[in-house]
Amino acid sequence: MEKAQIEEYFAGKEPLLIGAVKRLVSIDSVEGAPAPGAPFGPGPAAALKEALKIAEEWGLIPTDHEGYVGTADLNGGEDALHILGHLDVVPPGEGWTVTPPFSPIVNDGLIYGRGTDDDKGPVVASLLALKAVKDLGVPLRKNCKVIMGTNEETGSRDIAWYFARNPFAPATFTPDSGFPVINTEKGGFRPSFTRSWPEQAALPRLRRLHGGIRFNVLPGDASAAVEGLSMYDIQPVARKVTSRTGVTFTFALEDGLTVIHAKGAGSHAAFPQGGNNAVTGLVALLCALPLADGPAKESLEALNALLPHGDWRGEALGIAQEEPIAGPLTVAFSILEFSDTGMTGRFDSRVPLCATEENCLNVARAAFEGKGFAFACPEGQGKPHHTPADSDFVRTLLRRYEEYAGVKGECLATGGGTYVHDIPGGVAFGCTMPGFDTCLHGPDERVKVEDLMLSAKMFTHIIIDMCA
Ligand SMILES: [Zn+2]
Repeated sequence: MEKAQIEEYFAGKEPLLIGAVKRLVSIDSVEGAPAPGAPFGPGPAAALKEALKIAEEWGLIPTDHEGYVGTADLNGGEDALHILGHLDVVPPGEGWTVTPPFSPIVNDGLIYGRGTDDDKGPVVASLLALKAVKDLGVPLRKNCKVIMGTNEETGSRDIAWYFARNPFAPATFTPDSGFPVINTEKGGFRPSFTRSWPEQAALPRLRRLHGGIRFNVLPGDASAAVEGLSMYDIQPVARKVTSRTGVTFTFALEDGLTVIHAKGAGSHAAFPQGGNNAVTGLVALLCALPLADGPAKESLEALNALLPHGDWRGEALGIAQEEPIAGPLTVAFSILEFSDTGMTGRFDSRVPLCATEENCLNVARAAFEGKGFAFACPEGQGKPHHTPADSDFVRTLLRRYEEYAGVKGECLATGGGTYVHDIPGGVAFGCTMPGFDTCLHGPDERVKVEDLMLSAKMFTHIIIDMCA
């Protein structure tokens, strides 16, 4: 099969692609309450039904796997390739300006709406590639299956269910990310730690502290309330801490307490070096204040020693390490709460290929327990994921990417996990071209029609490479 034949087939197919994307994006498929045949609620189930209808209209073999997953097969042969996408979406949120989230429109070559990029557009591009292979009449020895999940955004219980009952293919890619290829994903562990004490009366004292919103977000804001020190006592110390950390502080008086707001810069926990942690900045300030001795002060100092400001590599915890493929281990101290009688906190660490429980989780546990904290990590340490860059499959993906997109391909590593994290031999591939902002998970989510068409052509050729 020549590229020219594939290009010719796709000439004039844009309306077909856009029409199918609009059908799926018009359905609000945010997770809801489970019902029979709809394990993740009516929205994902309706989107799945519609996608299977499109697959059937396009001459593919549709199967509904009890509402968890839908599959579209090219033929009855043995699976050589799985393309894994999803039909559930994150909640729309506020701030949509171009069109309401579930009323997709095309504007200036972009399709706007919740799920256009993540991941309904890429699912349609994949289905269209299967249709192309079929319409072009290419003789195939093996099958390609598009697997359409319905729970990627809230736990991936869809594919856990499916792969507990069905085998993996020798090769899988998920167009749920960007080009070129992501073949390496760090593992992770997200422990919590606590300490409690009887209330102490001696002043000055910390009354409460609140920092962080989610375990996987490096906090850009934090606040604390101190009794027995005025803002004039704190300000000169705060200025010094700001010059050292970049975290800024503002003050207010509330019910006789001095409330301190710390402002840093938030970032994803997989990339803590991109943010400036307000919680560690605030802890550094509190440690520099003349608080009365006692367990609260002791706990602050212990935390400041274990997770000091700026230490995103886990040096102080003794777990810093790196290797050339996945890069450095990262640590994001993401949640901290103090009351009069105790504290609880959480951090999120992403570990490279050289990491083991012995040199990470257990070392961190010993460091916390050694300073008097109770430490818990019931989920244990997640394994990293890696598919070798020199495998035939990855080389095929990169070759076709370079041929169709006309730019250099390469393999990338991520600190986050993709949909193929637990699938042997899986990689993330497409559908966003490097440098384009899709407003992922935000308002005005969009996808380039051009990128989806390019992906569909590329996928067509790859299916032929893998299945003919
Ligand atoms: Zn996604």
